Amino acid sequence: VETITTADRMTALVSDWRRGGLSIGFVPTMGALHRGHMSLVDISTGRADRTVVSIFVNPTQFSEGEDLDRYPVTLDEDGARLREAGVDALFLPGREEVYPGGFSTRVEVDGLTEGLCGAFRPGHFDGVTTVCAVLFGIVRPDFAVFGRKDAQQLAVVRRMVRDLRLGIGIVEGGIVRESDGLAMSSRNRYLSPLQREEAAGIYQGLLRVRRAFEEGVRGAGELEEAFRSETGTRPGLRVQYANLVDPDTMEGLGYAGDGSLFAVAVFSGDTRLIDNILLEKRSGSVEV
Ligand code: AMP
Repeated sequence: VETITTADRMTALVSDWRRGGLSIGFVPTMGALHRGHMSLVDISTGRADRTVVSIFVNPTQFSEGEDLDRYPVTLDEDGARLREAGVDALFLPGREEVYPGGFSTRVEVDGLTEGLCGAFRPGHFDGVTTVCAVLFGIVRPDFAVFGRKDAQQLAVVRRMVRDLRLGIGIVEGGIVRESDGLAMSSRNRYLSPLQREEAAGIYQGLLRVRRAFEEGVRGAGELEEAFRSETGTRPGLRVQYANLVDPDTMEGLGYAGDGSLFAVAVFSGDTRLIDNILLEKRSGSVEV
């Protein structure tokens, strides 16, 4: 795996590949890689001739008082994992490469960014869409892979690519979980052993929601109640939001239908964890 630190070199390398008729997949990350990230890498290497992974802790997507300054950095381990996975290039730009002096553009997606995380992290998604637009411009991939763990981010990036006609495919990867169900996240390492144990309650809560849905519960309030009935038994967990939404528009729903998304953000101490579950009717089941 070649490590590339400048935008010009990254663009030149990808242009060479493209001239050679090769397809290019791209996985943007903030590093501290875990199996969730690696599942996206595997999707890319399985579909494309060349895979680029970026590691850039993007300052513009962090709000004041968030964990930008202590975000985990594990570059040696990350490099080893990417090498093993057969990644072709690791793009590791400094801030000046992504946001050079005079950088003045912000990409903002309306509507989809208002609810869920957008309501609690002002400017977060503007930071995400802006950095994705820059990274897409540098790498110019055929497709980029994003995890469904960050369901709102996935929907927002999809919309940006569609609206701006960037011509980049957005491929989604499923949520990779620890053995107790906790969604893998670079931020899980902030958790103390007790917090880590309690955090499994988030997935247990989501499973309760799915079970309720499968038993015929449709009301958003009742589904939220199902979630809180689980997290409420764990004193260290504080629910920031637990909402039923449309997975494409991120609009809040009063009633769940086939394919609705139930998305949550939960604090354990200072650590903010997000997760979600798709509510799908089992094939063959009959609405009564
Ligand atoms: P991050 O490094 O947190 O910016 O995440 C980079 C990419 O990895 C995003 O597309 C995330 O949605 C994805 N990702 C993070 N955690 C997981 C997970 N547990 N399962 C699948 N994808 C994930």
